[in-house]
Amino acid sequence: MIVLKAADELDVMRENGRILAEILDRLVEEVRPGRPTQFFDALAERLVRDSGGEPAFRVFAGFPGTINASINEEIVHGIPTDARTLSDGDLFSIDIGIYRNGYCADAATTIPVGAVDAAVQRLLAVGEASLWKGIEQVRMGNRLSDVSHAIGSYVESSGFHVVREYVGHGIGKSLHEDPQIPNYGPPGRGVRLQPGMVLAIEPMVKTDALPTQTRGDRWTVVTGSGGLSVHFEHTVALTEDGVEVLTRGGE
Ligand code: MG
Repeated sequence: MIVLKAADELDVMRENGRILAEILDRLVEEVRPGRPTQFFDALAERLVRDSGGEPAFRVFAGFPGTINASINEEIVHGIPTDARTLSDGDLFSIDIGIYRNGYCADAATTIPVGAVDAAVQRLLAVGEASLWKGIEQVRMGNRLSDVSHAIGSYVESSGFHVVREYVGHGIGKSLHEDPQIPNYGPPGRGVRLQPGMVLAIEPMVKTDALPTQTRGDRWTVVTGSGGLSVHFEHTVALTEDGVEVLTRGGE
């Protein structure tokens, strides 16, 4: 069941989104070679708690961290640790969720660490653009799979592949609500989009088409071939005025 949010609920979610975007921007500013992923988790947890919130991934998923810290072939759910340090040329994906005043917000981005080559820059560009292709389709009269199709068709026509095992989702009082939002598929299917829907849209884009695998830590999801992967996510709301990106940062 899709829970539509009332105006006063959207006000809380809007504030949470703004706070989360500021925190994520802050984390991105700190990215540099030599930093362990735990550094970012500790900073993220402090900023989340200082805002009056809690780490949503801990609260709702039992994840051992405030952020997912995933590097290179790691797609999502990388566990922050002092044992893993960023290196020049890495791709560092940060996924972060906040639970504050009874509502969640969820966002992710992938940052190049130092210099990356042109092929990697292209993967980053396609991954980020695919999120915006999806967001453009969040409008009244469209169906849910119009979002999925816009993302998937753009990614595949760009020569990359979407992760099929993990999907975007409704979000509100819980981190993961209905509907599920795959990042592929035909258009024109699923529920009609309507005001009050709040969605976390989150394409994960990779260089191979193989099934994903999960490491022995039971969290870290990696590409089948060891190829690179990127992850971009925003929490967006559909209102009578159109789509609103709640987690939009300074950019
Ligand atoms: Mg999410």
